[in-house]
Amino acid sequence: MTGPPMTAQTTTTAPRPILDSPRPRAEQLLVGFFTVIPMLALIAAVPLAWGWGLSWLDVGLAVFFYFLSGLGVTVGFHRYFTHRAFTANRGLRNGLAIAGSLALQGDVITWVADHRRHHVFTDKEGDPHSPWLYGTTVGALAKGFWHAHSGWLFNRDRTNAARFTPDLVADRDIARISRQFPLWTVVSLATPTLIGGLATLSWWGALTAFFWAGLVRVSVLHHVTWSINSICHMIGERPFAARGKATNVWPLAILSMGESWHNLHHADPTCARHGVRRGELDMTGRIIWILERLGWATRVRWPTSARIAELTASR
Ligand SMILES: [Zn+2]
Ligand SMILES: [Zn+2]
Repeated sequence: MTGPPMTAQTTTTAPRPILDSPRPRAEQLLVGFFTVIPMLALIAAVPLAWGWGLSWLDVGLAVFFYFLSGLGVTVGFHRYFTHRAFTANRGLRNGLAIAGSLALQGDVITWVADHRRHHVFTDKEGDPHSPWLYGTTVGALAKGFWHAHSGWLFNRDRTNAARFTPDLVADRDIARISRQFPLWTVVSLATPTLIGGLATLSWWGALTAFFWAGLVRVSVLHHVTWSINSICHMIGERPFAARGKATNVWPLAILSMGESWHNLHHADPTCARHGVRRGELDMTGRIIWILERLGWATRVRWPTSARIAELTASR
């Protein structure tokens, strides 16, 4: 006897697989390309800074694009799209999706799908970038560190967007911005180059702006973001009760724009501010506060002292 026919109902209620089909090889090659080239630029940057062109304009452009794309990731990709720490109007939502795309960390839907999977399986099998998957010997932790920091990007697993980000796939604006990721990659590298060239009316000015505000800026932000996945799951303080091994790492607070208060974040993922204790700088939280004042962000999930006391006590 055969079983009942598979109905639409049973199809939709069956749990969707964690992974989608593997990433195409050509796309994987591009991931490698855009990860390695900026990193080589970063390695070359230090000796070149002394004897080679680094103008104040390059510094200004690099800092501007660092924080623009970085806040696109922290305010947008992370606290808004992944965790819905606040509600955004349409203009802000699209602006954040575009700004985050300029960081060259993948399209918004892929980024959010991977990160939601990280929260579901934190530091266990299924977590896309836990440093704890290989064991706790020195060798296993070194391997884990590399995997969590950037090694995971080089395997072809693709998180299933239909399972982890149905809300974003259904949002037509966001789905379009996500598909346009190649365009944002060009915009991210070409805009500082163009400004550098036009401001100095020289090809040399365009080239140095491309190098510093394009490649080096992208790579520094890559490493800071990746440090949240590697360092902030290995070393640091754990003042709050969180599943997994996330830590607070104060030296990264400014460069990461508040994301290195990662122990609090895993204890209370939808909280709009991660640096909740006195003196814990959280630029991302401050920007959300400004967006709320402007009326673009509403229903912001601010931490309450009762909630923080609860998270500290249940530790
Ligand atoms: Zn984490
Ligand atoms: Zn998160």
